[in-house]
Amino acid sequence: MTDVVDRFLRYVKVWTTSEEGVEDNYPSTERQKDLLRQLVEELKEIGLADAGMDEHGYVMATLPSNLPEGNDLPTLGLIAHVDTSPDVSGKDVKPIIHENYDGTDLVLPGDPSVIIEVSENKHLLENIGGSIITSDGTTLLGADDKAGIAAIMAALKVLVDDRSLQHGRIRVGFTPDEEVGNGTKFFDVSKFDADIAYTIDGGERGEVEDETFNAMSATFTVKGMNVHPGYAKDKMVNSVRVITEIVDMIPATISPEMTEGAIGYLHPHHIEGGVEVSILKVLIRDFTMEGMGEKVNILENIAELQMSRYPKATIDLDIKESYRNMKFKLDEEPRALEYALKAVKNAGIEPMQRMIRGGTDGAMLSYKGLPTPNIFAGGMNFHSKREYIPAVSLEAAVSTILQLAKLFAEE
Ligand SMILES: [Zn+2]
Repeated sequence: MTDVVDRFLRYVKVWTTSEEGVEDNYPSTERQKDLLRQLVEELKEIGLADAGMDEHGYVMATLPSNLPEGNDLPTLGLIAHVDTSPDVSGKDVKPIIHENYDGTDLVLPGDPSVIIEVSENKHLLENIGGSIITSDGTTLLGADDKAGIAAIMAALKVLVDDRSLQHGRIRVGFTPDEEVGNGTKFFDVSKFDADIAYTIDGGERGEVEDETFNAMSATFTVKGMNVHPGYAKDKMVNSVRVITEIVDMIPATISPEMTEGAIGYLHPHHIEGGVEVSILKVLIRDFTMEGMGEKVNILENIAELQMSRYPKATIDLDIKESYRNMKFKLDEEPRALEYALKAVKNAGIEPMQRMIRGGTDGAMLSYKGLPTPNIFAGGMNFHSKREYIPAVSLEAAVSTILQLAKLFAEE
């Protein structure tokens, strides 16, 4: 078994599920620190003497340059998150290695109703003869993002052990609470002190991601007028009717159910209320600012139309920005993407440049001044009991990191 697989199997067994909606504590769950503390010890064992965890749980460490004139080289940052998604249990993960994979459906023994079907996972067929790692079917696996952590740790070990591999200064960051959208909440970019960083948190082997959605959230608040329904003629304004009409007017053709690739959407995802007050929440997503503007415009027009139809109702539309496409920032530092694509290629894999139909910690970091594209860690079917990772993809992630280190040293 290779070092990276061995590490991966150890890390997934540590329960690190984060929790949604925790505001008083950071990280959201103490158990994430179990793995973070373990990583500090292992980093020190490898030889990164300054490894430490701060009060928020962030682990940072330095691999100093081994070049005589290494000080002018850009510092490479490598980042991965320890937590797993609260959507599926990540307690008592029992990883299983399916050796010499034969191309058939994978039935997971802990719950035989959980089957990773080849018909839905064509990628499996690219891994015939290799080893596929899954959970036993009762939990998620946690390749998101323990594959990223294992790959970074294994790559560091290689760089320390093999003195012939020249590298500049490398900074490592392990973070909690990514899955609940708070991975970078207290991440100190100036303390991390890297020039270009990569989250090793993508999926399929070869994937490099430099774009995220732009994201806004819209809230319609409709105030009606409640009167005894028996005597409501010409008096009652039912906000339930006003708000459901708003939902009907949001074009279904630009919903998440109808869009993919580079196309954005409007997603009415939450509704609550009664006659007096109703609230509707809508997510606005697009890769371009023009597309965002058009979608905001649609919502504003709908609000306006309803105001003219229901002059006695109050209709408020509040729109807040959540995050922006990281490409706008990455374009200012073209080397970030260039090195990522080149490193994948130099590792012998065909790079696949993709857009993330969501956000990423790297987007937040890019806007905090640290350009941070995302590189594959190899896992598939994230946040699911059907999560799996081919061993060869884990090893490919290690090779890619080593190639990155090499490119940064050639600067
Ligand atoms: Zn992740």
